[in-house]
Amino acid sequence: APGLYFLATPIGTARDITLRALDILASADVIAAEDTRSLRRLMEIHGVPLEGRRIFAYHDHSGPAARAHLIEALREGHSVAYASEAGMPLIADPGYDLGRAAAEAGFAVTVAPGPSAALAALTLAGLPTDAFFFAGFLPNAKGARRTRLEALRDIPGTLIFYESPKRIEASLADIAEVLGEERSAAVCRELTKKFEEIRRGSLAELAEGARSDPPRGEIVILVDRSHSEPVNASDIESDLRAALQDHSV
Ligand code: SAM
Repeated sequence: APGLYFLATPIGTARDITLRALDILASADVIAAEDTRSLRRLMEIHGVPLEGRRIFAYHDHSGPAARAHLIEALREGHSVAYASEAGMPLIADPGYDLGRAAAEAGFAVTVAPGPSAALAALTLAGLPTDAFFFAGFLPNAKGARRTRLEALRDIPGTLIFYESPKRIEASLADIAEVLGEERSAAVCRELTKKFEEIRRGSLAELAEGARSDPPRGEIVILVDRSHSEPVNASDIESDLRAALQDHSV
């Protein structure tokens, strides 16, 4: 059917792609990708032939002409599939401007969801999952990084950061200093790949670990919420009693 299809691709292991994403790749009239080579490779691995189609390079910064080309294809009644280099498009990846433009022009927009490093890491970190905040990449510059961290300090949920191995040591040092060395945290690297590793501990311990034994590869950092205002146990108990009374028959 015509419309824009966002496709999730693996964050490591090539078989982490959904059957529906492969079906859409096999049948889409137009295929666009942040990284045309990696998508072509993925299609080869799974035996999805290009069959005369080509893969267009598209990034939100490729300029309005590239986007206009894809919107024009939608206008002609084509189905357009879009994948970023890894994981879910739009999540610290391009696709946002394209999705907005397609929706604003009245075209159907759908997704074949799949892996994302943020949720994979949250699943493994051993930190609360009831509420979480995806903070993406921290700024490179130290001053801007600390200002951003201060703004995130009191968010009542697990914080999720993406990081590059080049900056992990400096970032963890700043995170520990601004958010508090005692907070529980986790460093998840190379998820679904050969050297998958999860380090759990306090921010002080993880910052020290990043200094003495820097984690390599792709990394997600997760930090527990601030517990500086302890939950009042007697309030919870009286709330629970009241709720139970309301519901008794
Ligand atoms: N769209 C992707 C997603 O849904 O997770 C994220 C793309 S972003 C440009 C790349 C960052 O995601 C990396 O720097 C790293 O922080 C994280 N990442 C991607 N794959 C990962 C993996 N296999 N293990 C750990 N982190 C990963």
